Parts: sequence; C-alpha cells; structure tokens
Amino acid sequence: MNTTKRVLVVASVTLVAVILYQWGHIDGSAGKSSKVMGESIAAESSPIKALTEQDIYYPGTEDLAPDEMRVIACGTGMPNSRPKQAAACFLVELGNGDKFIFDIGSGSAERLSAMKIPYDYLDKVFIGHLHSDHFGDLAALWIGGVIGNRIKPLRVWGPSGTKPELGTKYALEHMEKVFTWDSASRLGNVDIRGQVLEVHEFDYKAINQEIFNENGVSIRTIPAIHALDGPVSFILEWNGLKFAFSSDTFPNKWWMKYTKNADIAIHECFITPDDLVKKQKWTPGAALNVGTQVHTSPAQFGKVMSDIKPRIAVGYHFFNDFDTLPNVLEAVRSTYDGPLALATDYMVFNITKDDIRVRMAVVDEDIWPQPAVGEKIPPDASKRIGFTEFITDGRVNYKEVVDRIYADINEKYGTDIPAPQ
Ligand SMILES: [Zn+2]
Ligand SMILES: [Zn+2]
Repeated sequence: MNTTKRVLVVASVTLVAVILYQWGHIDGSAGKSSKVMGESIAAESSPIKALTEQDIYYPGTEDLAPDEMRVIACGTGMPNSRPKQAAACFLVELGNGDKFIFDIGSGSAERLSAMKIPYDYLDKVFIGHLHSDHFGDLAALWIGGVIGNRIKPLRVWGPSGTKPELGTKYALEHMEKVFTWDSASRLGNVDIRGQVLEVHEFDYKAINQEIFNENGVSIRTIPAIHALDGPVSFILEWNGLKFAFSSDTFPNKWWMKYTKNADIAIHECFITPDDLVKKQKWTPGAALNVGTQVHTSPAQFGKVMSDIKPRIAVGYHFFNDFDTLPNVLEAVRSTYDGPLALATDYMVFNITKDDIRVRMAVVDEDIWPQPAVGEKIPPDASKRIGFTEFITDGRVNYKEVVDRIYADINEKYGTDIPAPQ
C-alpha cells in the first residue's frame, strides 16, 4: 500500500470512528450528548448500581411515546444470503400503535421475529418491487405468522407492472398456489383467519398518490427506476413526521421532488463498483453497470441526499463490513456532508420532532412468538383433509405412550381431551 492510500484508509477509518462516536442523538447532539454522558459517568461511579442509561435497544422493553416513530432495520444486505445481513426490510412503528413493514427481503422474517411483536400487529407490508431481496420472505411472514398466532389477514400493497404477469397481484396469487399443499395441510388444525392474504395492487406510474390512509397515517407512492418498469418508492407521513423509503432506485426526479426534507430518508446505497469487482468477483463492466446504473452507487447516494436534505440520511443495500464501509463512506462523503447512518441489520432509529436517536438493537436469539391479540378460534376438526387408507395403515400407534401424554396434559391444565383411538 502506498503512502497516499494508507493516509486515505486511516482518514476513512477515523471518520467512521467519529461517526460511530457521534451516534446517539443526531439533532442538537452537542448539548444533549454531553449532558447524557455526564449523567452516565455519575451512575457508572457506583460499584453496585445499574447504569441509568443503556445505549442499546432491547426489543420489547421500551414504550413508544405518542409522538414518536421507531424505525428498525430488519434487512440491509444484498440478494445473496449471509448470516450478518438479511435482504431489504425496514419496520416502522408509530406512537399511535400502527406498524408497517417496508419490503420483506429474503432472511428478514427472522429479524422481524426478534422484535417480539405479536404477529397481529405485523399485518401491513409495502413492497417496493418484486425482486427476491425485497419480497422473498413474504411467505415466511404470511405462513409463519399464522403459526405464530396471527388471527388477522395479512395486508400487502405492491405495484403493478407493464402487464398483469409483472404485477404484485399475479406474484402473490401464484405464491398462494405454490403453497397449496401447505394451506391444505393446515385446514382443521390451526385457526386459519390469519391465512387470508389481502392484496392491494396500485399503478406503478402513480406520482405521489396516496395508497393508504388510516389512523392519521398517509402512505404515498412514487415511481422508482430500477431494472424494469414497475418498482416504486414510498413516503409515509404521520404526526408531522416524514419517512421516505426508496426500495431500489436509480436517482430520479420523483424522489427529488417528493422526499425533500424527510425526517428520515432511507435510500439504497450499493457497494462500490471496485468492491463489486474485488469482493463479488464481477467483471469491471458488470460492476459498473449494476453498481451505477441498475443501482445507486455511494457517491450518487450522497448527491441524492445533498439534494433532498433529510434530517437523517440512511444508506442500505451493501454488505457493511470493516473493509467495505470505509470505501462506501469515503464515496458518500465526496458528495454529502449531512447527518448519515450507513445501515446494518438491527440498527434502530427513534425519531421525534426534536431528536433522532440511533442505536443498535441486541436481540434474543431464542425467540418464540407472542400471543394473538384476540381470542383464537379452535380449529374445526371436521375440515381436516386427513390421510388416505394407504398412509393411515402405516401408522405405528404407541397407545400407552400417547394416552399418558394426554393424561398428563389434561391433569396439568385441567382439561378433558380424549386421546384419539
Ligand atoms: Zn431490486
Ligand atoms: Zn435490491
């Protein structure tokens, strides 16, 4: 490594360190951070007291204030799978109790589960486009949510295409068909109200058109430019706060016009073309095409944010590692010097009119679902399709063993469920 390069790397790493250090409160950070820090030091001086402030988000342990928006990155990676980062997914939680999922890329349903939220509240999904890294885990949320106690239908919004086969409705109808056996197998065994899929397809060419308006929450769509006609970006507004999510897009005029001054603007920021060659093992030609034309490169992302000036700019859609982040950051900083977070999975943003707090969540990996928010209906056993005689004949019934299990459970829970004969 030559000297100039080494200096650059050191400068980048220092910059990352500075950004990480400043994370906490973005707006009015100077006063607030130093005050909080002062209080923490006082608490830390006790050898037996718990700290007064945790700079980590533990899911399920904090109330949302009535005027607060919490955004959690549940997928920030790329189409290829990796343990550290699922593909695109952002969860938005509002102080009015509403929750929204923007994109549900492959691997992200697992991250959503880690938030310890009853599946009945995770019932609204907005899909920006039909790439697997943006809706590949929809089936996991749909069916896994039913088994995880969701008794409400899953509502999904997504764009049309240039012909019906390229639209969201077609994709989801076929997803239901793919799971024909799965659905049939659950008849008479589980409460299937949560299995209902409500699909709302809207015109991908709609410009700033409202596609959702409930409980004071408005969600609008604008066209995005990515790979093929069809992709869209979303803008959510509630209680004077504005959230913008690009899904995937090349920089475009609609984003520039309608996301200006967003409180939080989440836009794709792909890996640098150089790392696409080095890490992803692509040719320079493929790296340049995908990295700057199909997607938005970090330097283009910075330019976009300089134009719209959000309270915080969030870049995602790259493998965010110790050896890629400095390159992304350096490119972003060549065109943008405002508030910035380069997202990785489990990054958490608490947003109010006065403050934006950025932290990481620490999650419990031994996750179980929360209960349903209403009473579950016992499944109607007469609806079971059952087995053919051929399969039934193959059963080995350990009658005494099963009788014992039924007796134990009946005794423990005061029930009187007869063991099958
Ligand atoms: Zn895409
Ligand atoms: Zn993508």
